[in-house]
Amino acid sequence: MTDESTMPPHKQHTVAVVPGDGIGPEITKATLEVLRATGCDLAFTFVEAGAAAVAAHGDPLPDRTLEVLRDADAVLKAPLSAPKGTGRIVRRRGGRDVTYPSINNALRRELDLFVNIRPVHAFPGVPARAPEMDIVIMREISEGIYSGLEHRIGDVAAEAVKLTTVAATERLARYAFSWARARGRGVTLGHKANVLNLTDGLMLEVTTAIAEAEYPDVAFNDMMVDAVGLTLAKSPEQLDVVILDNQYGDILSDVAGGLAGGIGIAPGANIGAAGAMFEAAHGAAPDIAGKGIANPMGLILSGAMLLDHLGEAQAAASIERAVADVLADGEVRPPDLGGSVGTAVVGRAVAERVGELVSRELTS
Ligand code: NAD
Repeated sequence: MTDESTMPPHKQHTVAVVPGDGIGPEITKATLEVLRATGCDLAFTFVEAGAAAVAAHGDPLPDRTLEVLRDADAVLKAPLSAPKGTGRIVRRRGGRDVTYPSINNALRRELDLFVNIRPVHAFPGVPARAPEMDIVIMREISEGIYSGLEHRIGDVAAEAVKLTTVAATERLARYAFSWARARGRGVTLGHKANVLNLTDGLMLEVTTAIAEAEYPDVAFNDMMVDAVGLTLAKSPEQLDVVILDNQYGDILSDVAGGLAGGIGIAPGANIGAAGAMFEAAHGAAPDIAGKGIANPMGLILSGAMLLDHLGEAQAAASIERAVADVLADGEVRPPDLGGSVGTAVVGRAVAERVGELVSRELTS
């Protein structure tokens, strides 16, 4: 018999779900099956954003959507399409109009999320150009060249402002150094301070000052961002936790994901002081949408990060282990990893493995 006094208190977590565009609904369904298999008490609320919200409510980011996302303990978000050149969203915030360059940027900033965390490592059994890759990219997501301060100058030119503030740089640096310290890992800042003397120069100055004054025990170095790209390609084992600004992090996290085995298995988390939103590193993949062949593992692993964030570390670990087991086993493999198994079957295989791992834990 179990002694109830020794059991952890039961806790229900509210999770807002944005099923997204393109392959979003397919990989969301598979991910929810896996999350349910953990046995965690999760209450899901579904809301629309982007194209689905325009179709339903005539607004890509309705107030009701933001309310649900803010009220939830965590958000699970599938990819949202951002049309090229026309995806800008204007919202009234703090008594003024704020322009967001895309729906994904708008969501991150409206929820006051400041760091996008992308762990990238290879999985046994999955062919990778960089099997030794084991890095965590910490990307700034509230400003930089993606701040939305961009305009045309007549028919002859256009310009964008790269905004870098001390406040955003400090909170990113403190988050990354604390995270690295807790796990005994080192930190590299990637920047271009030799050309962007004032913006990237400020990021270098502020991050170095925090490293020296507050985290002298955490190994720290800085590198030109082009050298970070070269190191990813040639000797990724030299990198560990990598701090990057909004655009460099956007680009290099996709490169890293590709080198480690594919963008279909790369997860991500967006963290803020009062909220968190979990999403795969890849986009809506319109070229394969509706075909049932998308790899759901990036979103499934993002779901593991969500559970870990909610304090369900054991359930999170069982999902990570289940994905690794299914990949190592090799029989159930989606097309992007060289197999021919569809989204639903991949999701079911991971969910079944999670179920086995959870019941083994319960009986041990
Ligand atoms: P993408 O990541 O959607 O697709 C790039 C390539 O990778 C495609 O060949 C696609 O088929 C493949 N791919 C991506 N995810 C896959 C998966 N899970 N399984 C198998 N193959 C997968 O990038 P894109 O084509 O540049 O962007 C498409 C749309 O997604 C755009 O509208 C873009 O704005 C949006 N997008 C959204 C996010 C987000 O929601 N955070 C991120 C990136 C792109």
